[in-house]
Amino acid sequence: MLRLYNTMTHQVEEIVPLHPGTVGMYTCGPTVYRYVHIGNLRSYLMADWIRRALVHHGFQVRQIKNITDVGHMRQDMLDRGEDKMIAAALAEGKTPSQIAAFYTEAFHQDEIALNILPANVYPKATDHVPQMITMIKRLLERGYAYEVNGNVYFDVRSFPTYGRLSTNRLAELQGGERAEADPLKRSQADFALWKAAEPGRMVKWPSPWGDGFPGWHIECSAMSTYYLGPQIDLHTGGVDNIFPHHEDEIAQSEAATGQPFVRYWVHGQHLLADGLKMAKSTGNSYTLSDLIERGFDPMAFRYLCLTVHYRTRLNFTFASLRAAQHAYDRLRRLAWHWAHHSDEAGDREVKEAWRQQFWNAVDDDLGLPQAISILWEMARSGLPPRDKWSLLSEWDTLLGLRLADTVAAELPRSEDVSRLLEERSVARRTGRYATSDRLREELQAQGVLVSDTRNGPRLEPIAILPRVDRLAGAVSSANAVASLLDEPDLVEFSVQILANGHLADLQRCIASVLANAGHHSIEIVVVDNGTTDGSAEWLQETSAANPRIRLLRADHNLGEAEGRNLGLRQSRGKIVLQLDTAVELTGDVFTPIAAALSDPKVGLVGRWGLRSHDLRHFEEHPGPEVDAVEGYFCAFPRRILKETDFYDPHYRFYRNLDINFSFEVKWKGYATRILELPVVLHEHRGWTALSNEEREKQSKRNFRRFLNKWGHDFDLLIEPIPEDLRPHHHPPSTVQE
Ligand code: AMP
Ligand code: ZN
Repeated sequence: MLRLYNTMTHQVEEIVPLHPGTVGMYTCGPTVYRYVHIGNLRSYLMADWIRRALVHHGFQVRQIKNITDVGHMRQDMLDRGEDKMIAAALAEGKTPSQIAAFYTEAFHQDEIALNILPANVYPKATDHVPQMITMIKRLLERGYAYEVNGNVYFDVRSFPTYGRLSTNRLAELQGGERAEADPLKRSQADFALWKAAEPGRMVKWPSPWGDGFPGWHIECSAMSTYYLGPQIDLHTGGVDNIFPHHEDEIAQSEAATGQPFVRYWVHGQHLLADGLKMAKSTGNSYTLSDLIERGFDPMAFRYLCLTVHYRTRLNFTFASLRAAQHAYDRLRRLAWHWAHHSDEAGDREVKEAWRQQFWNAVDDDLGLPQAISILWEMARSGLPPRDKWSLLSEWDTLLGLRLADTVAAELPRSEDVSRLLEERSVARRTGRYATSDRLREELQAQGVLVSDTRNGPRLEPIAILPRVDRLAGAVSSANAVASLLDEPDLVEFSVQILANGHLADLQRCIASVLANAGHHSIEIVVVDNGTTDGSAEWLQETSAANPRIRLLRADHNLGEAEGRNLGLRQSRGKIVLQLDTAVELTGDVFTPIAAALSDPKVGLVGRWGLRSHDLRHFEEHPGPEVDAVEGYFCAFPRRILKETDFYDPHYRFYRNLDINFSFEVKWKGYATRILELPVVLHEHRGWTALSNEEREKQSKRNFRRFLNKWGHDFDLLIEPIPEDLRPHHHPPSTVQE
C-alpha cells in the first residue's frame, strides 16, 4: 500500500481512503494570469505520480485541480505596470477572461507535454462564486466570520485549532509582524473571505455584502466541497501553500461543514534554479517552453524530477537537465532494443523480485529516486530482454515517460533499404569504406541508422536517436572556461559585450564598435548569456564571418556578474572595455581611454559616474572625479583583475555590481575617472523590461550586499559626510535609476 508523509501528523502514513476503493484528491492549481513555471510543474508532477501510484493499487481516483482566474486584477495595479504582460494584453483590448483563457490553455499544453494525466475536473474560480458566497454566508451564520464595510473576514480566534498544519501559533500571528495592518480586521491574523470592490476594479460580483470579489483561499474550500464532498482524502500543493493558504482552507471548510476536511496533506518541496528562488528579474524563472526552445524534450524534465525525492529541494541547472536528457535517451534506446528482441522469457521468480523491489520503493513515501536506481540495476542485470521490457512497460504506467511511444517506432523495411544494406555489406567486405559511408548516409535518409558491431551491423530506427544537443559547446558557469588572466596581452582592447536577449540593441552596439575601432587592435568578446530570441543564431553567424568577434556561449542566463566573468576569463586585451548593449559608440573612444589609463594611478574609467556622501545614496555626477563608474560603459587594465579578482558572482542583477567593482578598484588604491567620450546611451532594457516589483526586489538585494561589504568605508568617498552624522545601521534603499 502507498504510504505518504502527512504534513498534519508529521508522519509517513498508509493512505486509507474514506470510501474503500475510491480516492478523492484535490490539487491546488495554477493562477492563470501568467505562464506556469517549471517549479509549479514540479508540484503537478508530484500529484501525478501519487495519482498513478494509487491507480496501480487499484483505486479509482477522482482528481480536482482548480484554475485560479480571479484576483491580481486591479486597474491601479495595472496602471503602475505591476504585471506588464497583463497590461499589454489589456492595452490590446483583451478582456480579463480572454487573458485567463489564454494562460489556461498554455497550462493544459504544458501538462500534455509532460504527460501529466488530466484532472477529472478543472473548475474555474470565476464559475463558482455562488458556491463561495454560500459558504461565506454559512460561516457568518455560524459565528466564524464578521462583516465590515462590505468586507467579510474569518475570525481566527473562533477556530481554536487554527495553526495546526503550519505549526504557527496564533499569538505569533497576532504579533502583527505583517507589513501593513488592516484597520478593518479585529485581529491581524484574520483573513478575508470577501473583499469589497475598490473603484476601478474590473473583475467583481454582486453579493449580500455589496459588489466585491472572493478572498484568496475560499475558492479551494468551496470547490473541493462542491466536487468531492466535505471530506477529501488527499490534498496536494507546494510547501509555500501550507501557510496561509491551506491553514485557511482548513479553518473555512471545517468551520462551515463541522466535519474534518482533509485526511492526508501532501506538500512538495520547491524547485530552485541555480540555487535561488526563481524570479523573472534574476533571469532564472523558466517555463517549459524555455526548455523546449533550448532543444530539450519535456520528458527530460519529467525524468529529472523523478531523480529527486518530492520532499527535497530540487536545484535545477541546465547541466542537470542535460544529464537527465542523456539518461532518458539511453533508456529509450534500451527499451526499443529490449522490445524488439525475440527471445524466451526467463525465470519468473527473478522477474517478480525486481517487480517487488520497484513497487516497494514507490510505496515508501513515493521513493522515486530509489525506484529509478532499481530500474537501472535491472537494466544492467542478466534478465532476458523480453522480461526487461515487460517490467519497464509496467513501471512506465507510473513513471509516465512515454516509453511505449519509442518502442512503437518501426525499422523502415523496403526494397530500397534491403538493397542499400546489401550493397553496404559488400562495400565493407571489399574495403571500399568511402562507398560504405555514403551508403550509410543514404540509409539514414531512409530512416535507418546502421552501426557496426562485432556481431555485424546493428539497425535502429532514426526516430529513437537522441535529440541534437543544441547546447553543445555552451557552458553552465564561468569557471567552465580557463582563465587567461596570466597570459600575455594579444590585442590593445578587449571589448566585452553581454548578450541578454535584445537582438536589435546587440546589433547596434557591435556595429558601432566595428565602425569606430579605427587603427586600434581590438577583439570583441561577446557572451551569449543563454538567449533564446534569435541572438544566439545571429551571433554564431556573425562571429563565424568576422575574426575580430569571439563568441562564448552560456547554456542559460548566468546572471550579470557570471556572464561578464565568462568573457573576462577569456579576454586577451591590455585594456578591457565593457559595454552594455544599450550603448552605441559614435566616435573614437579608444584613444582617450588608452591615454587616461596610461596614468598608473587610474584604475577604472567610464562615461557615466556616481557620487555618494553616505554610501546609502548614489547620485549621477559628471566627474571627472567620481566614487563609482557606471557599468554601462567602463574600462580598466586587464591586469587589475589580478588584484580585484573577477566580479562577485552573487550579483546576478546588474544594479550595484558596478559600484561594488568600483570600490574594489579604489580599495586597491586606484582612482576612478569619468571621460568626455562620443557615446550614446539608449533605452536600457535590462531595467525597462522589468516590473516595479521585480526592480525593487532585486535592487534591494544587491544594495544590501553592497552595504554589508562597504557600508562603513567612508574613507573611500571623495566627500564623505562628517563622522558624527554617519549612519550605524543599514536602512533599505530607495529604487531609482
Ligand atoms: P501558484 O500559481 O503560485 O499558486 O502555484 C501553483 C502551485 O505551484 C502551488 O501548488 C505552489 O505551491 C507550487 N509552486 C510554486 N512555486 C514553486 C516552486 N518554485 N517549486 C515547486 N512548486 C512551486
Ligand atoms: Zn488551493
